[in-house]
Amino acid sequence: PATESPSEAAGPVPPSARAIDHSGVRVTGLRRAFDGRVVLDDVELTIAPGEFVSLLGASGSGKSTLLRAVGGLDPGVEGRIEVPERTAIVFQEHRLLPWERVWRNVTLGVGGGDLRRRAVAALAEVGLEGRADAWPGTLSGGESQRVALARALVRTPQLLLLDEPFGALDALTRLTAQALVEDLWAEHRPSVLLVTHDVEEALLLSDRALLLADGGIAAEFTVDIPRPRPLDHPRLVELRTELL
Ligand code: ADP
Ligand code: MG
Repeated sequence: PATESPSEAAGPVPPSARAIDHSGVRVTGLRRAFDGRVVLDDVELTIAPGEFVSLLGASGSGKSTLLRAVGGLDPGVEGRIEVPERTAIVFQEHRLLPWERVWRNVTLGVGGGDLRRRAVAALAEVGLEGRADAWPGTLSGGESQRVALARALVRTPQLLLLDEPFGALDALTRLTAQALVEDLWAEHRPSVLLVTHDVEEALLLSDRALLLADGGIAAEFTVDIPRPRPLDHPRLVELRTELL
């Protein structure tokens, strides 16, 4: 194709070296208070293009508040937020509309034509190619979260915001979903901000883990372990001990 870059023409490019068409995330001076109670106090956050960042923190520390602010969903937040043009969010609850078929859920609010074909392609990426015409009520929890991921993918996000997307899944389904997210990230290379309270999940998936506490980023860990990462990797075990 005419758009092929010289490096691509020269041979296959590993995903990590693929050109990334956005400049990541830059947040400064982020502040959010609810009824005078400060939850986020002058938070600074940078995510490099294509970087996978996890946000850890105790329940109530403000993780979801920060993610919603980055996603542009919180008009009450102060500060400077720069994000790529195309941003998609997946929440812990799939938020599918039960009266719309799966493929329509995937493309709700998406412009352009050919929506069914695009939905089916996104569903194929999450292993649900056969379920385009199913009703959401007939899906398992894991399948519903995969539909929510397909709904994000169909928007070809440059930034993917994930708020405890596996929190409601059983342990085995969660492992499959984590592997899927890692594969999709490696394939498409969006910047990712993953909110989780699961330290192992953060260490398995992310380049960098941030710890949110007392209204700010209290600690930061670079996860310098090649992928795919076995949970018993000595460096991972070491980081886990530091974090817990
Ligand atoms: P986390 O996701 O880390 O569990 P949240 O970001 O959901 O934490 O919440 C952080 C704090 O802000 C909590 O004390 C929560 O009660 C409060 N909070 C969040 N959203 C609202 C809201 N819309 N109104 C009032 N308080 C809120
Ligand atoms: Mg939360």
